Formats: sequence, structure tokens, C-alpha cells
Amino acid sequence: MKRLNVLFISLALLFVFTFMANPASAFEFNFYYQEIEEVYDPASTAPWLGLGQTVSNWFGNEKVEIKKSEYVPTDSSPDKGHAQIAYKIRTRKVTCLAELYNAMGVTQEQINKGEVSNGQLALIDTFKEAQSKAIQDRTEHAFKNKCDVYLTDSSDYDTNPNVSDYVKNALKKDFWPCSSGDKKRIQMSSRFFCGDADTDHAVSTFVHEYSHSLDKTEYQEKNHYGLDNTHYYDEIISKSAAFKESWAEYNEMIEFDSTRDSYLSRATANTMLSIESTSKSGDYSNKIKASDATAEQLMCNEMFMCSMLYKLHELLGEDANGKDIVSNAFYETNGKNNSMSNLIKQIIKDNPSKIADIIKVVDDATLNKMKSDYMREFFGDSQELENYITNNNVDARGSETTGSVGENAARRAKPSSENDTQATDTLKKTSIFKRIADKIKSTLKITSSSSSKLPTLKKLSDETENNKGKGVVIEVESDDPFGE
Ligand SMILES: [Zn+2]
Repeated sequence: MKRLNVLFISLALLFVFTFMANPASAFEFNFYYQEIEEVYDPASTAPWLGLGQTVSNWFGNEKVEIKKSEYVPTDSSPDKGHAQIAYKIRTRKVTCLAELYNAMGVTQEQINKGEVSNGQLALIDTFKEAQSKAIQDRTEHAFKNKCDVYLTDSSDYDTNPNVSDYVKNALKKDFWPCSSGDKKRIQMSSRFFCGDADTDHAVSTFVHEYSHSLDKTEYQEKNHYGLDNTHYYDEIISKSAAFKESWAEYNEMIEFDSTRDSYLSRATANTMLSIESTSKSGDYSNKIKASDATAEQLMCNEMFMCSMLYKLHELLGEDANGKDIVSNAFYETNGKNNSMSNLIKQIIKDNPSKIADIIKVVDDATLNKMKSDYMREFFGDSQELENYITNNNVDARGSETTGSVGENAARRAKPSSENDTQATDTLKKTSIFKRIADKIKSTLKITSSSSSKLPTLKKLSDETENNKGKGVVIEVESDDPFGE
């Protein structure tokens, strides 16, 4: 009996020590390198595929798939009406930097000499960032024990002058950085970062996406990003989407000074905010000056909201254990119905002596547009709030409700074909993307890469007046596993 007790205690201690010695073992990143090897005309290869559908096959430890593009140009885009394309994608798992270099076909020497594309450097930096303190500190809040990260490399196409703008736009949208709905998959891509010499953009985006994966909040509105399912930092989107984005952006802001400065400098009274049309996707001609927006509208803008969280962070700092007080409150309230109001109420609850300062930060961050009734609903009733309302003459701001957000919500509640799991993510280079979209010509250029790495494709016809706008015409040679 005694021996059994000793055995039991020993096993129990072993278990405890093992667990304590390696608490991080509960979470792991799995990295997958994905090469976009070819761009196809799905009509000639896999005409049965639906948007976003794939057909795949394994070759040893590599998966090769044909995926039909999901890119649906907005009503306002010159790409509208273009024939769909499909990709041949080769995927393999990479467990260390050497394996990633090998899969990419690059060497450290090439990297040192600057012979690797910006897009590929961004993927390499993303891989390294997973080991950073910024990411590792956050893994303790993960509620899934793993996260798959797809590093999609389309660098043969990203900046190739022979590749059409349509294909470049499709690549950008199809492999947009995002954290998918199941919280277990992050997408990063060379296409998104191909124009960035500054790789901080990639690593801060990775922190952004990882922070999304820690967020349990569910979108509470239909068309939460508007008809185009894309959001811009200057856009008035749905309240829950703005809350989710602001959380991810706030995480970037506390890790990256350049991101912090960028948002703080933009969230001002003179900034123009845009409201997407509810009848024509991608139409942002409706602009409103931030100083003319209501507090409710500003609460629906990610840039204003992340700046507000950051200002609360500046006010409250970190607790005695070095924990970020804003993030702590977020994790305390983390749940599918979480909201900015919930979070702020929790911050007040955790820091009762600072309530007046917290109210002021939120009120200032929304340009002193909050009405007294909205304040009571947002912060919860308290004597401190009543004092603030009196001392700041909040009732003089008028008592009429604007109805703007209600109208937006009603308009956004229209049925949509949007697929929530495919939610596109933050558009850092908003103005650049808009400019690209504006610049796109409807003329069709050659879409297959001229790279020598693509020997299995034969382009059947060059751009002519006859095939303009008719899509890519490409033949797949018979030795291709997916060819007919
Ligand atoms: Zn995001």
C-alpha cells in the first residue's frame, strides 16, 4: 500500500513538474509554405469547380491543388465581368527557417544580397515573428491549442509586368491576410506585401491576425464589412466589426510604434470617413468629415476605436505584474457577445478610481459627440458619470438621436451572399489599393507568368482585340495531374 502511495505521489509530481516546466507546449504554430505555381483558366482545367472550391492531390508530403479564385470584383471595379481564374497551388509544411528557405528556393546569401523579393521577405519575417515576445506572450490567451499559418508565395506574379492587373487583384483578394473564423488558421501572402520594403508591415499584420485569433467576439450584423466584404481604416463599418478590428489594431499599436503613430495621427476631427454604398459594392463616394459624424458612427470606425483603446492604455498603463490593463479587461470580457461598451465597463470596474478619466478619454476619442443617454447606456449608470455630464455640459450637445447608425444597421441587414468565414481583413494600404483599382484598365494583358518555372503552361493566344475581356486562354499539358 505504501509503495503504491509513493508511486502515485511520484507520478503526480512528475505530471505537475512536466506541466510547469513546459507550459507553452499547449500551443503550437504549424507553418505551411504555399507556392502559387500557375494561374489557369478554370474553363479549360476544372470547369466544374465553384468559387473558392479546390481539387487536390498529395504527392509525398506535398499537396497540389487547383483552387478556383473567389475574387468577385465589386460593382464599382473595372474588373467586373472578367472571367474567373484558378490557381495551381503546391503546399508543404515547414518546421524551421532552413526548410522555408529550401521550399522557397532561396539562400541566406541571396537574402543578404537583397536578391529576394519584398513579398518573400515578408513571409520569412512572418515565420520568424512567431517566436517573438509579442506573439509568445499572447499565446497564453489562445483558446485553441494550435494555429496553422499559410505563407502563400505568388512572387512569380506579384510584380511581373506581363501579369494582368486582374490576376494581381485576384491574388491579392484570394490570399488576403486574415484569421479565419475557426481561429485556427492565419493567411499571409507575398502578394499583399510585395510593394513593401518595410517588413514591419508584415510582422505587425501577423500580430494583428494572431490577435484576431484570440478574440471570441462574433459579428453581430449582416454585411458587417459592407457589400464588398472589405474594410478600410477610414470606413464606417458595423459596430461589432469595428470593435474586432480595433482590438487587432490596438495590439499592433502597442507593439509597433509606426502603426501606433499612423492610427493616432489619422483619427482626428478633420479626417474624412467613407461609407460604402448599400446598393453598389465598392462604391465609397459617400464621405463624411469625422467632426460631422455622430459618436455612434465613430464607434463604427476601426481607426477611431483602436486609437481610443490606445489612449486608454496610455492612461492606465500596466498593472503591478506588468500586464496591459486594457488587454486584461478584454480577456476578462472575451465572449461572442462582447462589445466596446462591455470592454469599457470592465475597464471601469477594474479601475474604479479612474472612472472620470476613462470617461473623458472615451468622450474625447469620439470627438465629444456622445449624448447623455448614450453615455449612460455605454458606460453604465454612476454618480461619476452624472458629474461628468453636468461638469461638461453634455446635455447641451442636444438630446435628439441621430438615427444614422440605426439606418446603417437596417440597410446592412439586407440579405447578402457574403461568406463570413471568408471575411477579408484589414486593408493597410487602403489608398494604394483604391488607387490601383482606379487605375485598372479593362484591357486584358497576358496572364501567365513568363517565368521559366512554369513549363507546363502554354499560352494559346496573345492579347488581341478579339480576346480582350474574354479571359485567360491557357492550355494544360497532358502530364499535369489535373489536366484532361
Ligand atoms: Zn483585421
